Amino acid sequence: MSTGHPRVAGFVDDHPGTTRILCPYCGCLHIHGRSPGNRVPHCGDKRNLPEYEIVLIDIPVPIEVLRINREAQRIHKILRNRRCSPCRDKSNKPDLSYKEEIEGLAAEARSLNKQILAEVSYE
Ligand SMILES: [Zn+2]
Repeated sequence: MSTGHPRVAGFVDDHPGTTRILCPYCGCLHIHGRSPGNRVPHCGDKRNLPEYEIVLIDIPVPIEVLRINREAQRIHKILRNRRCSPCRDKSNKPDLSYKEEIEGLAAEARSLNKQILAEVSYE
């Protein structure tokens, strides 16, 4: 049943009680408790982002997901702030110097989530 929120794949994590998801808003992996349903994005507390819906799947984090996460983390590290797009500098003003890159990674994250969920539902 669709809730109207973006659906994200909840991958198997090293810890049995948690799941990792590729965020459709920032391209980073976020860790949540391992149960399905709607969650508030960890990167959204200054932005009022819609919740996403976790669909638990039984595979480890794919290499392509790790690649997007690595790129996104690299940018957020440069911005010296773990908050995601639009990242904020120390004065809490939006730092838009990597806006396009982050939006590109977020778009990749959204399409990859769709693709992975479509694949597992046909198995
Ligand atoms: Zn995020």
